[in-house]
Amino acid sequence: MRTLADFDKDFEAKYTLDENFSNVLVRVDYNVPIKDGRVTDDTRIKASLPTIKHLLGKNLAVILMSHLGRPKGKDPAFSLQPVVKVLQDYLHKEVKFIKGPPPRPSASGYLDVLNQAGGLLPGSVALLENVRFNDGEEANDDDLAQGYARLGDAFVLDAFGSAHRAHASVTGITKHLPSYAGRLMEKEVSALSKLIDTPSKPYWMVLGGAKVSDKIGLINKLLPKVDGIVIGGAMAFTFIKARGGQVGNSLVEDDKLDLARWLIQIASAIGVKLQLPTDVVAAKKIEKGVETTVFPANRIPEGWMGLDIGPDSQKDFAKALQGAHTVFWNGPMGVFETPPFDAGTLVVGKAIAELSGAFTVVGGGDSVAAANKLGVSEKFSHVSTGGGASLEFLESGTLPGIEALS
Ligand code: ADP
Ligand code: MG
Repeated sequence: MRTLADFDKDFEAKYTLDENFSNVLVRVDYNVPIKDGRVTDDTRIKASLPTIKHLLGKNLAVILMSHLGRPKGKDPAFSLQPVVKVLQDYLHKEVKFIKGPPPRPSASGYLDVLNQAGGLLPGSVALLENVRFNDGEEANDDDLAQGYARLGDAFVLDAFGSAHRAHASVTGITKHLPSYAGRLMEKEVSALSKLIDTPSKPYWMVLGGAKVSDKIGLINKLLPKVDGIVIGGAMAFTFIKARGGQVGNSLVEDDKLDLARWLIQIASAIGVKLQLPTDVVAAKKIEKGVETTVFPANRIPEGWMGLDIGPDSQKDFAKALQGAHTVFWNGPMGVFETPPFDAGTLVVGKAIAELSGAFTVVGGGDSVAAANKLGVSEKFSHVSTGGGASLEFLESGTLPGIEALS
């Protein structure tokens, strides 16, 4: 993967001879939550600042581009406009918002976009409108990729959270410009690589969330490397049912029961501990402050849903993790969005954050939100900005965006 260090060398060697070299396009991940026109969590914007500042330090103009959500057409609710103010506050300078038309050479009005980009002064910053407003972004249309490429003289990919997508603004554009990985890409790849290549033992994986099917690839890949796996969240019920337990109305993937049985067998054959909840906090519906009862995890009555790990399991999980040297956490232990079902996630998240001397990584949108809510994200060795991207990287050791920079 070519990085900003390579960019710097190239910049010294040839770009400085090219007097017209001035604009660097940076693909960032500003897929941030927005409510009433305001950004409600700017973690991803902050994570992009080191790369932007590095380039501004070379007196280049920086053109940022990102997607936001999954718009159908050009829905103004998905405009990146609200990001401008946040960026301006962090960078202490004006950020020009380039609305469009679509940056596709054949589109009428493309020249206008080209002129706006061409007119940027050294050291200035611009943000393009949501790349998913452009037809062909997700289909990786080459005409569109060329249209982007003409706006700049070099390309930096710093959107780790999107690097698993072979889209025009992620991989397509790299065919048309000298391309490099930004600081965030480097940081993510180096932290996540440690989980695959050189994990210090004991190594535990903590998994939760809704579905086993989302995390099967990850379990398969990491099972031979870990010493134990803690499983909470709804995904635990598929394992508990596979062992013959009664899970009431809890969320279960019935078509994954055989797979769960097989994983239980493999884990026991290779000596990997599988720690499942022994008790659960259950309710009849998912609602704030609803009446709850604690049941043994394998004897949940009909009509009741297990929505969080119980008090015994909280203690057991925290205890299992004591002494771990490496921990990867993905997926909340319960329906943490709705108190009181956040208790298990908070206890386990805190237990991981407070392991001393351990290399701890949290990944996944909901898990990172839980760590932020707890106020412990700073105690993790690494908080991954990618959900799907971090899981896919751990599964395959690379991503389409990384390949495109190699
Ligand atoms: P991440 O975004 O960290 O990868 P997931 O998206 O896989 O995590 O899982 C998060 C979701 O799992 C949350 O919406 C949460 O409510 C849900 N969840 C966790 N435990 C349960 C449970 N016992 N029953 C139903 N849903 C659950
Ligand atoms: Mg999620």
